[in-house]
Amino acid sequence: MDYSVDLILKYPLINIKSTEKSDIVRIHGKIYVHHKYFAVTLHQITHLNGAPKYKLKSITNVKSKSTLSKIKNALSTDVFRNIVEVLDQMNEILLQDTDVKHLEVHTDIYRKVIHEYSEFVKFFLNISTCELKEDLTTICVAVTDSKPRLHSVEIAVDYSKKSSDLFRISAADLPEKDQAILKGNESLIALFDTFIGQLELLQPYFELMDTLDEHATILDPDKPRKSDAYRRIWLGENISTIITVDPFNIYERPDIKFLGPDRLIESFSSSLNENIGKWVYQENIFQGILDLLGLQEFPKKDTATNQVNLLVEFGECSICFCLRLNNKLPEIICTNQSCEKLYHNQCLYDWLVSLHAKRVFNNISGNCPNCEKTISCPLMN
Ligand SMILES: [Zn+2]
Ligand SMILES: [Zn+2]
Repeated sequence: MDYSVDLILKYPLINIKSTEKSDIVRIHGKIYVHHKYFAVTLHQITHLNGAPKYKLKSITNVKSKSTLSKIKNALSTDVFRNIVEVLDQMNEILLQDTDVKHLEVHTDIYRKVIHEYSEFVKFFLNISTCELKEDLTTICVAVTDSKPRLHSVEIAVDYSKKSSDLFRISAADLPEKDQAILKGNESLIALFDTFIGQLELLQPYFELMDTLDEHATILDPDKPRKSDAYRRIWLGENISTIITVDPFNIYERPDIKFLGPDRLIESFSSSLNENIGKWVYQENIFQGILDLLGLQEFPKKDTATNQVNLLVEFGECSICFCLRLNNKLPEIICTNQSCEKLYHNQCLYDWLVSLHAKRVFNNISGNCPNCEKTISCPLMN
């Protein structure tokens, strides 16, 4: 047969065998189309005069019915001079209908992502840096607000096709995960516009936190992030206050707690009690906080006279050396004025239990780990 060299080169896994019927040849084997093998069986029927006819007996791996009927149609209507032409035709149909089609859909999405990204970069003038990761899955943006303050955002591209929301914000330093923002959007510009709107909404919050950071000695957090809606502020030796605000309700009276021995807290808490009723809608929230505390301004900690090598920062538990344990601040203070160490209830309880201290009703009482004077705390589970 004159086509066999061509067949061996193009379709090396195809065999041709004669059958009992002299006019029928069985063609069987595998063809390789776009990373996939298809096992096929065909019959070639030769009539005396005219081109041979081909019939598909079986084919594996074809999932779509339309692909199958396209092949059958082609075999019954088209004219082929030889088996190579038949296999070429089948090859073409399989290419169109299987993986390649799949690939084209993906290419469309990639094209859309790149298009959205380039439109996005042109659309927002306040973008300071912007990067689309090479694998097209993440977009990192740094944007300035009206102040200007810098905000970093990470946007994820969702290729899962489970939702039409191609873009969603995967990381942003915002005080609370806002559902509207994290919902995602099929348009990158629309998604980012929601985010910018959120930044504008939070301007009074950012403003207050910046003012606190500038005008007070902040003990905690160490390096405030925009999502930190609280500040622990130094009020004097051994006394501090924790001010927590609601970022979305900034004009509400903030939550104010004091940390320190009673004798130092007293004057602040009486000022707070006195002024608490006077809190109305505050145009200047920073001033409102000073008024609540009965202060003209926040005292500044003199760093020059600050004791170095202090093992425990004031406010931290003197057993675990941490400020927070299970999100709780140290609740117990040693009543000895020359000690006044702070302890988490849990830490002190464990300590006293380990020393087999006395239990009286709902309390356990023993010696302060620091000054050894009597100290007690409620029993824990
Ligand atoms: Zn502790
Ligand atoms: Zn003590």
